[in-house]
Amino acid sequence: MTLKPEILRPGGSKNLVFVCDHASNYIPPKYHALGLTPEHLSEHIAWDIGAGGIARNLSAILDAPAVLGAHSRLVIDTNRDLDSPTLIAEVSDGVEIPGNRKINERDRNARIRNYYEPFHAAVDVLVRTRLPHHPLVFGVHTFSPVFGGKSRVLEFAVLWNQDDRLAQRIGTAFEAHGYKVGWNEPYSGKSFFTTLDRHGHRHALPHVTVEVRNDLVDEEPEQRRFAEMIAVCLREISLKGL
Ligand SMILES: [Zn+2]
Repeated sequence: MTLKPEILRPGGSKNLVFVCDHASNYIPPKYHALGLTPEHLSEHIAWDIGAGGIARNLSAILDAPAVLGAHSRLVIDTNRDLDSPTLIAEVSDGVEIPGNRKINERDRNARIRNYYEPFHAAVDVLVRTRLPHHPLVFGVHTFSPVFGGKSRVLEFAVLWNQDDRLAQRIGTAFEAHGYKVGWNEPYSGKSFFTTLDRHGHRHALPHVTVEVRNDLVDEEPEQRRFAEMIAVCLREISLKGL
């Protein structure tokens, strides 16, 4: 059965769209938790800890629409191309995902139809209805403080693929507020940028993916505080003519 993403403030007054692919760790019961423990499902391999809270707060603070994924990326990752080997990951950060091992074509197609396409269709509708106003498309993600055994000191990351204009501006604003910013680090938009390429770059809209280190935003008050700071930065750069 199709699972629709969460859509907030579709008629919001602000001319931008927040997109949060990895907001949820929900796995439909028929997948039996993909064979994983509840502990694994609470970790970053299943979702972006804190990202949904940041996106919800941003949507509320700025009165802007937001689309939040309603399923775990382990079911199918909406921020991957359909031919990506990690679209339905068999291993994530060293953890094997038993329910994703050698899945058949029928299961794969069902996951695309029921979870992947409804997410992108929802973003598409929101972006297209605003196209005449040239909206800004803003991806919200978080990254783990430790990955592959290595610690990360960065607090923010700004990611881009082919168009770095908004990434440069928002990243510079974060630095001006005293944060340690990774520029296409610890992930590069050159490797994974499916959602923003599809809904931002394709329409020649200003776009960026912003990531926050998840240990900074694992509680609601911090999610709200970071959203307020991001909103301040967005207002600052829009005053300069974005
Ligand atoms: Zn993410």
